Amino acid sequence: MNIVVQKFGGTSVRNLECMKQVLEKVLVPYEKGNKVIVVLSAMSGETNRLIDLANEWSDTPDLAEMDSLVSTGEQVSVALFAMLLKDRGIKARSLLGFQIPIKTNVAYTRARILDIDREQMNALLEDNDILVVAGFQGCNEGKRITTLGRGGSDTSAVAMAAAVDADICEIFTDVPGVFTTDPNICSQARKLDTVSYDEMLEMASMGAKVLQIRSVEFAKKYNVKVHVRSTFSDEIGTYVTQEDVNMESLLVSGIAYDKDQARVTLAKVNDEPGVSATLFTPLAEAGILVDMIVQNPSRDGRTDMTFTIPRADLSNTLEILDRIKDSMGAEEVLYDQNVCKVSVIGVGMRNHSGVASHAFQALRDENINILMISTSEIKITCLIEEKYTELAIRTLHNTFGLDKSGSEENML
Ligand code: ADP
Ligand code: ASP
Ligand code: MG
Repeated sequence: MNIVVQKFGGTSVRNLECMKQVLEKVLVPYEKGNKVIVVLSAMSGETNRLIDLANEWSDTPDLAEMDSLVSTGEQVSVALFAMLLKDRGIKARSLLGFQIPIKTNVAYTRARILDIDREQMNALLEDNDILVVAGFQGCNEGKRITTLGRGGSDTSAVAMAAAVDADICEIFTDVPGVFTTDPNICSQARKLDTVSYDEMLEMASMGAKVLQIRSVEFAKKYNVKVHVRSTFSDEIGTYVTQEDVNMESLLVSGIAYDKDQARVTLAKVNDEPGVSATLFTPLAEAGILVDMIVQNPSRDGRTDMTFTIPRADLSNTLEILDRIKDSMGAEEVLYDQNVCKVSVIGVGMRNHSGVASHAFQALRDENINILMISTSEIKITCLIEEKYTELAIRTLHNTFGLDKSGSEENML
């Protein structure tokens, strides 16, 4: 049995007209005799609408009920689309996460998939030619609905492809593939034919929301071939695969950005063993993802600790710091929400020096101040003022020869 998984995002199912275009895409593998698993997101804007409703009740809505609420968006999409298929005389049915089941841990609003019942999927595929599965949702041991975090339908699709050993996982979206940077921000962005799992992991973790990071982790772990492409054209998109010798061997493959950031400084804390543990343990326990961390050298036994967190976690973070700051001898807590993380990414950097200094020079030439820096072997990240985001992206994109009009080879 050859199986193709196809995922369609919110803009692809935003109304009934768009759903008819989705149908055309689904008919392609179906008419070739494949079994098709279609994973759908909620109609665009719906998840936000549901979250806003919950936030009208409370700033801290019950998370289990939140997941019951926001998962309904996907239920609407799959039921409507399954109706369309059945009208065409196709053997199809809709499936919610708990009906399969897609088992997750208990972490409401950011759950992780633990298992998808493969035998059940095979049985369902025996009886149906197309299964329409609700993305973004699963259920936990307590038989409660969970959701996988924003953008989680990508992860539903790739995990499903891994579970049923699909030939390919096609991620259909509103852009024709993975670009060198967000094509909606930089008109010079160029579509990549291929991108390695590692590069895509860095791009996703640094803010390129075209794929949710967990979906790339699954793809890499289970070697799922992923093809990111447009719902609204027939052009070939971008293949996300294992690095291989034929891959575009660019030094830098992309520029990502993440505006969902805040910078926090605890000023003049005691420089003694255990300070970092005192600071970061309660943040981790509260589920706050700390990203960049800088500790200055100490003067007179005191030091500043600066770190970044998702902007949505700022008030929670400040409450925690208020509780612990005295025990650390901290003089004050400073924070800034108007910051953005800009990252230069490329596996080609592994064997090259000088990429960081070129990035720093490019930002200097535009008079953009760098607030924090972090690096890995395939990425350089700079925290800058948010108002310079577009300028920084365009200048870095150009510096590394990624522009459409730029050179083919972006060697230094
Ligand atoms: P969907 O609703 O289909 O899941 P998303 O909005 O989650 O779509 O992701 C697609 C969007 O990702 C694009 O519209 C684009 O603005 C953004 N994006 C950010 N970085 C990139 C990139 N490097 N390549 C392509 N798209 C990107
Ligand atoms: N509907 C969910 C969201 O808006 C999941 C997804 O679209 O992937 O985040
Ligand atoms: Mg998405």
